[in-house]
Amino acid sequence: MELGFYGAARQVTGSMYLLRLETGYNVLIDCGLNYEKDVPREDNAKFPFDPEDIDLVLLTHAHIDHSGNLPTLYANGFEGKILCTEPTAALVDILLTDSANIEANRVNKKRKKKEATRRLFGHKQVMDVVDNIVTVTFNAPFEVNQHLTVEFVPAGHILGAASIRIQVTENGKTKVLGFTGDLGKSDAKVVVRPAPLKGLDYLVMEGTYGSRFHKEQRSPEETLIEYVTKTCIDQPGRLIIPAFSVGRTQAILFTLNKLFREQRLKPIRVFTDSPLGISSGAIHEDFVEYLNLESRKFVSEYRDLFKFPQLDIIEDKEDEESMQRYYEPSIIVSSAGMLDGGRIQRHIANNIQNPLCTILIAGYCTPGSLGADLLEGRRSVRIKKHDREVYATISSTDVFSAHPDQTELQSYFQEVNQNSALKKVFLSHGEESSLLLLKDVLSSDYETIEVPYVNAKYTL
Ligand SMILES: [Zn+2]
Repeated sequence: MELGFYGAARQVTGSMYLLRLETGYNVLIDCGLNYEKDVPREDNAKFPFDPEDIDLVLLTHAHIDHSGNLPTLYANGFEGKILCTEPTAALVDILLTDSANIEANRVNKKRKKKEATRRLFGHKQVMDVVDNIVTVTFNAPFEVNQHLTVEFVPAGHILGAASIRIQVTENGKTKVLGFTGDLGKSDAKVVVRPAPLKGLDYLVMEGTYGSRFHKEQRSPEETLIEYVTKTCIDQPGRLIIPAFSVGRTQAILFTLNKLFREQRLKPIRVFTDSPLGISSGAIHEDFVEYLNLESRKFVSEYRDLFKFPQLDIIEDKEDEESMQRYYEPSIIVSSAGMLDGGRIQRHIANNIQNPLCTILIAGYCTPGSLGADLLEGRRSVRIKKHDREVYATISSTDVFSAHPDQTELQSYFQEVNQNSALKKVFLSHGEESSLLLLKDVLSSDYETIEVPYVNAKYTL
């Protein structure tokens, strides 16, 4: 068989791996959108293989850099099925529908400016994706055909996320490949901890934070208590937490809910302004059995994971206006995490000149994003076509991170290695420098580690 690396190779986005079996059966693992800054969006339609030749897609999780190019695959001739877990199927539906709206807006803007462009996909292709999903359960081997059996195991990271174990039998020999997908932290809020893959011959492992160490020593509860107390209790300020809609928004709302219910924090008013955050929160509540023990216990005691009496959901203009008129201390949780787009920009624009405001950045910001500019300490930033002086306090925490750091990746790897006879390890889904550093660190345990370039192919 042959394994090709067609995305997330020495970069983070566009996850896409192709496994060509000797029987002629072709399996694509993930089909993510490549949104690196220097790549034109239209390039996502240029597949390095014929989509008609793909027989099956295995999808690790719903994030757009793993699922976002599936509609384009259908638009270009793919007619097969997609295997994923049930919560991933539900999240894919809302995330791709949102993505189709973003794509339509992008194309309209370009056309208004009379710039040449091509629409990658529309709502019809999103329906193709949704209609062709076959859901699988965790830890239950699924026989695709006599040569191929797949098993999805929990990866943590976000609701429904899986690592995939693929067993291939060719010429009387069986080989086992493992794809970690994106892994989560072992002590993450809401989601389960990752279960290491076992009995592998080959491993494809993510290395997003291969060069980084999580700095926050305190728990999520202690971290939020400190920021809420400093900003909203010791002074009449406003705490703004930018957060991705799936995963981080739920982890933050859950932690606040817990602190209020346990009376460890005064009931400060919280505004959440993220329609996708609300719909993905509802999906979390539909799949409580997939969440960690702490969340399941919380549901049996308090019923709602993410809702509490002083939570206000911003749904329309009227809600927003009433929030603007609220001058008491408050907390705003809004998307997107890197502050580059979405509703968070309005909140930042309205509050960045308020010295009683703290903006708590809870995730990684790529260089050049507004979040990264603020973290660098810029005293003036441009938001919505206006230059604005920065008087708010800018802080950051990695306590809600959705990925393991170098130490955790190393112990994950050691566990897989102890339970496998690995012939080769491939590192992907990370910036080049992260992956090369991670390779050095892991080389103390194991020697044959590759960091593939895009389009690299390996015979296994
Ligand atoms: Zn992810």
